Amino acid sequence: MKNIYGLTLEQLEQYFLMHNEKSFKATQVFDWLYKRRVTSFDEMTNIKKETLEQMKQDFTMKSITLLTKTEGKDVVKFLFELEDSNKVEAVLMKHDYGNSLCVSTEVGCNMGCAFCESGRLKKVRHLETHEMVLQILAVESYLQIRISHVVLMGIGEPFDNYDHVIDFISIINSGKGIDIGARHITVSTCGIVPKIQAFIENGKQVNLAISLHAPNNILRNQLMPINKVYPIEELMSVLKKYIEKTNRRVTFEYILLENVNDTDTCAIELANLLKGMNCYVNLIPYNETSHIEFKKSSQETILRFYDILKKNKINVTIRREFGGKVMAACGQLRSNYEEA
Ligand code: SAH
Repeated sequence: MKNIYGLTLEQLEQYFLMHNEKSFKATQVFDWLYKRRVTSFDEMTNIKKETLEQMKQDFTMKSITLLTKTEGKDVVKFLFELEDSNKVEAVLMKHDYGNSLCVSTEVGCNMGCAFCESGRLKKVRHLETHEMVLQILAVESYLQIRISHVVLMGIGEPFDNYDHVIDFISIINSGKGIDIGARHITVSTCGIVPKIQAFIENGKQVNLAISLHAPNNILRNQLMPINKVYPIEELMSVLKKYIEKTNRRVTFEYILLENVNDTDTCAIELANLLKGMNCYVNLIPYNETSHIEFKKSSQETILRFYDILKKNKINVTIRREFGGKVMAACGQLRSNYEEA
């Protein structure tokens, strides 16, 4: 049986049309699900009995189960159990501009980035659309808050689960659904070029972030195996198309790893690579994990790297650190739980 939280408004309209009902029923149901947040079909009092009975036969409204919740300063980390007992994480970060939720898109990840904890445990399966939507609803309900921003930066590679991710974005972005503005949604990808191309054609106005982490192919091949399939030149070329078509700025994420990609030479090379492009670089202090060798660059090195980019007129920010102390960093909660 399908979970109703996995349907976009258009899919739900199709459903009602198929059952010889008016398509606006879908808007009414969305209203119950996402505005009033009911948890059973019987609460949808403006839908007639027969329709509700039919819906009960076709859909579940089952949520995901909270396993653990760890809290740090301005951060709450959730570990959820899915129906087949797989586990995923979501991390809530409280910013001064609002509440941002970092959502997982897959159980594990196959991209195999050398520094990443999520990829250490291989991909088990992709997440269904409703399993992403429910991360938001569950966190909002547990904390009694509203999430204003969503980043697809949890476990998994969003563009390895493209169709479900696109549906997920439709549901949370819909004014009749969760209504999170497109500019408040960010998809982060390791750089699956054909999917970036598809994303351009799809025309969604959400932010695009690229995990770059190295300024040249030799280094990037070592850190991110995906680069052997889609090297930097191909990535840059599709991103130029993205910028041209959308007139939007691309974010480059760059984790600073001590003595690996944090040298002055790397900074200059990165500046040359990005010169003149409508983009900005988000420098990420590495979250060290006990299983992986890489070390975080010193504060001094981070600032030095930042300065070199600035001097070369590259827009750059240093990401605030969240959750390292509560193991909320990048896939650690799930992998520790699975291995315990
Ligand atoms: N697969 C997607 C999204 C998930 S990872 C992607 O590659 O973009 C989200 C971001 O966290 C990526 O930039 C990733 O490289 C980064 N990341 C992974 N492990 C990290 C760690 N230990 N410390 C800091 N950032 C990390």
